[in-house]
This record gives sequence, structure tokens and C-alpha cells, in this order.
Amino acid sequence: MEGPADLVDPYGRTVRDLRISITDRCNFRCTYCMPEEGLQWLPREDVLTYEELARVASICVSWFGVDGIRITGGEPTVRAHLPRLVRMLSGIVVPEASSSPLAGKPIDLALTTNGATLGLLAPELRAAGLQRINISLDTLDRERFRLMTRRDELHRVLDGIDAAIAAGFAPVKLNAVVQRGVNDDEVVALAEFGRDKGVEVRFIEWMPLDAQGSWEGGAVVSQDEIVSAIHAVHPLEQLPARGAAPADRWRYLDGRGTVGVIPSVTKPFCGDCDRVRLTADGQFRTCLFATDEFDLRALLRGGADDGAIAAEIRRAVGTKWAGHRIGDVAFVKPRRSMSQIGG
Ligand code: SAM
Ligand code: SF4
Repeated sequence: MEGPADLVDPYGRTVRDLRISITDRCNFRCTYCMPEEGLQWLPREDVLTYEELARVASICVSWFGVDGIRITGGEPTVRAHLPRLVRMLSGIVVPEASSSPLAGKPIDLALTTNGATLGLLAPELRAAGLQRINISLDTLDRERFRLMTRRDELHRVLDGIDAAIAAGFAPVKLNAVVQRGVNDDEVVALAEFGRDKGVEVRFIEWMPLDAQGSWEGGAVVSQDEIVSAIHAVHPLEQLPARGAAPADRWRYLDGRGTVGVIPSVTKPFCGDCDRVRLTADGQFRTCLFATDEFDLRALLRGGADDGAIAAEIRRAVGTKWAGHRIGDVAFVKPRRSMSQIGG
């Protein structure tokens, strides 16, 4: 085979980034994500093995020049032997002949986690080749944390953040979903926490992807509101356009760091989207909000060769739509929720 062929969707966007969910299970129960009980976990035999996940990842890199992979879930650190998967993925190299700026180099490998187990795991993940890490932190208040996650584990997440910084991940970022009347009064405190730790906080607008269907537009705190709240206390200046990255970014005028906002609802970034997704049970999706899935597990387990799997991925990307339509009457909520797809 010659160099990879760019994987371009019908709207001219080139796919570069693969999000792999490795489990739909979680040790937290964030109220904006899943109910306390009742979410049906995938049967274990339906979940792809690390070998199967790594095979799809390798095909995306070698056939299509995908150069970034993010491991997510559910909570990826609840799956046993995560460093083994990290080792498998961090060894994947972007082909020399690719048009990616990472041609000839290892893929850009990242992890999104709630951070609760990083106190133990961070050094091992770093040693296995993980480069970047995003940790979710929506509040600094112990009681509010308990209410939001239904777990009294703020201390473990804070330890996890320190462990990730100490392990040398570059960068560590903090993700905070903001909901009106829940934690919107903590935007400035969370931003200041990030400044003190020397890490970027990325605020996320709450999306209608919670399993219990409790999302309502009035609870979404917009990017404009978030930025105004911070700017009033710590003046900000916007950084140049984000490209395919989902966050808009600002720098603090006093030089102490940067902050990001992911305006998924009020200013969708679909026009620049370069992402595709693989669910834990091997379904390939071209959007968080896609209503169609492409069954790679059946191909993987049915003896398909790499070419057949690549052809199915190309067929899926050929159906990628222009963008989600949250707020539009035509919006259809996907059958699966955020933790089942992989956030
Ligand atoms: N369990 C890990 C975590 O919480 O970081 C990884 C999976 S989680 C689904 C990925 C990210 O999605 C987290 O930052 C989480 O806060 C965010 N998230 C979950 N449900 C969301 C929703 N309905 N709208 C916006 N972000 C959401
Ligand atoms: Fe679990 Fe992450 Fe969802 Fe919270 S946001 S319930 S930590 S998957």
C-alpha cells in the first residue's frame, strides 16, 4: 500500500482524530451524564478487546492518516490493565507519507478521565506512553461534588490532578461542565484553581446527551456568560481561532495562563470537526449526535481483512452530516447517551 489517503467527508472535512470508548461503565454517576441506577451495561463479550481496539486504531492511522487518538468512556480507568492498551496505542506511528504534521512520529495519544484513580495510575500511564490527559472537575466544594457525582470523592480527584501534574503529562487540562443553578457560581473559582495549578480549565456547555433525558436548554450556561464572568475578575484576551479543536481559548492578560470554553450548544464547531468515534462495543460513529452506527465488531470478529474494515470506515465517513441541530425542531437525540458513546 502507498501512503495513507486522507479520509474526507462529504463537507470537505478531513478526519484526523479518533475517540475510542473502552468501556461504558463508570465509578461515578454524574447527574448530568447518567442516572444513579438502571443504565444497562454492555455485556462483557460485546466489548472489544484491547487487540481489537488497537487494530481499528492502526487501520485508521495507516490507511487514513489519523494522527490523534483519545481514550475515553464511560470511565476508562475502570477497565483492567489500561496501561497495556496505552502501550499498544502509543507505539502506533503516523506513516511517513501522510499529509499529517506528525508524519513519521508517534500518534498524539490522550485520555479523558474523572481522575479518581490517577493517584495510583498516573505514573504508570505516563510510563506507558500517554502524553496528554483531561480530568473532569465540575466543583471544588465537597458536598456539591457528592451531589453532582453521587460519590464523596473530591479528595481523590484533587489527588489525581496533582499526581497527573507530577507525572509530567503535557498538558494536563481540566474539564468542567457548567449547569445553571448547579455550579455556575463556581466558574471563577474553577478558573482560579486552574491558574494556581498551572493547567488550562476548559468549560463545557451541557449537551442533551444525558441518559436520563433531563437536559433542558435553560440550564445551559453559554460561552458568553462563562467568559464574561471570568473576564470581570481576571481580564482576558481571545486567542486565534481554534481550527479543529473544540475549545475557543483565551489568555489571561496578567500572563498567568489560558482558559478554554467548548460551546457545543451555543456556537457549535461542527464546521471544523475532524473527529470520528468508536464505541466500546465496536460501533463506528461519525458524530456524538449521529443516529447511525457502523458495526466494525461484526467485521473484526467475522474474519474481515484490513481492507474491508477500512472500506466500512470510508463508507461511514461518507455519511457524516454537516452538524448537529440542537435547538432545532429537527433535532433527534441519539439512542445512546454520552457515557455509552464515549465523550
Ligand atoms: N468519565 C470520564 C470523564 O468524566 O472525564 C470520560 C467520559 S465523560 C463522558 C467525558 C466528558 O464528557 C467529561 O468531561 C464529562 O464531564 C463530559 N460530559 C458528560 N456528559 C455530558 C453532557 N451531557 N454534556 C456535556 N459534557 C458532558
Ligand atoms: Fe462517569 Fe464521566 Fe459520565 Fe461522570 S461524566 S458519570 S465520570 S462517564
